[in-house]
Amino acid sequence: MTTSTAATTRSSKAAVTPAISMRGVTKTFGDVAAVDNLDLDIADGEFFSMLGPSGSGKTTVLRLIAGFEQPTSGTITLAGTDVTGVAPFDRDVNTVFQDYALFPHMTVLDNVAYGLRVRGVGKSRRRTEALEALGTVQLAHLADRRPHQLSGGQRQRVALARAMVVTPRVLLLDEPLGALDLKLREQMQVELKQLQRDLGITFVFVTHDQEEALTLSDRVAVFNNGSVVQLGTPQQIYEKPTSRYVASFVGTSNIFDDATSVGLLGRSGTFALRPERITLRTDGGGPTTSTAGTIARRGVIVESIYLGSGHRVHVRLDDGTGLIVLEQGAGESDDGERGAAVIASWNERDLVALS
Ligand code: ADP
Ligand code: MG
Repeated sequence: MTTSTAATTRSSKAAVTPAISMRGVTKTFGDVAAVDNLDLDIADGEFFSMLGPSGSGKTTVLRLIAGFEQPTSGTITLAGTDVTGVAPFDRDVNTVFQDYALFPHMTVLDNVAYGLRVRGVGKSRRRTEALEALGTVQLAHLADRRPHQLSGGQRQRVALARAMVVTPRVLLLDEPLGALDLKLREQMQVELKQLQRDLGITFVFVTHDQEEALTLSDRVAVFNNGSVVQLGTPQQIYEKPTSRYVASFVGTSNIFDDATSVGLLGRSGTFALRPERITLRTDGGGPTTSTAGTIARRGVIVESIYLGSGHRVHVRLDDGTGLIVLEQGAGESDDGERGAAVIASWNERDLVALS
């Protein structure tokens, strides 16, 4: 009884103490605030992504968490412990770098065992644990090879095994799939997600690829200029962007500025509308709309681009507003030729108000 109460208390405490907590963290390089007064909590066991364009401060945040950089101001705690001034190897985190940084002269096994050697683990245990880590990334059979004898995807897996062999509570991954071609990247995405789920480790994943962030993460922080401009689940980020920046950086959006909204929607404000929320039909000359809550406007097809999985259709509405419409599957726009008269319609509730 006593034991189970203690266990419950411990696990509920673990559930509320974030794996990583940053408060008022700023990092400046000369005049540049690479990270600007950042507050961030990352939960234990979470797959957390930092998404943003190049130069938005993502790598700097990772380096601050890892301890390779010290904040100019602010505090960082790991599992409730202030780690300001704690050396990187004394933090319960490990990093997978974009370029993998494997030692070329060492075998795969020795590369993976390296972190254990540094920690003074004996030879036979090193070997067992390194082989086990290689097993989790399906590479135990290549333990004796050297990095140059591996494909890009295999090198990437070795880098993962090397980071995981010391069983850190937190794994930091800086664009780890950036060097891989599309097919391999998609395969590795699935493997990473499964690995994270199986091991229950907190993953902090940096990417500039919005699709990657949306498909892998429990939560996504969208970065711009050293700040988080929106934080939420992939659904929240995609369905309810709060700013023009997020609406256009994450996926494609039609954005209606205030002047357009007044004419087109009959109300003022800035709104985003996803291309896949718009329906096109051939304009037969009848009334444009009959259903309440639906907006329908006349226009012409400017361009229809075949995407394989559907069409991306560019429409110019009669008021001059340009619209991008995504038609999935073999839609009607198969015969939607340039210049064809169409009626574009969408549900009013699919309009997302932006600040
Ligand atoms: P990201 O990973 O999102 O591309 P970074 O964190 O690498 O962004 O960089 C954020 C900003 O900080 C950039 O303007 C970059 O030039 C600057 N920066 C990063 N590291 C250094 C450094 N060591 N010295 C000077 N400026 C740096
Ligand atoms: Mg970077």
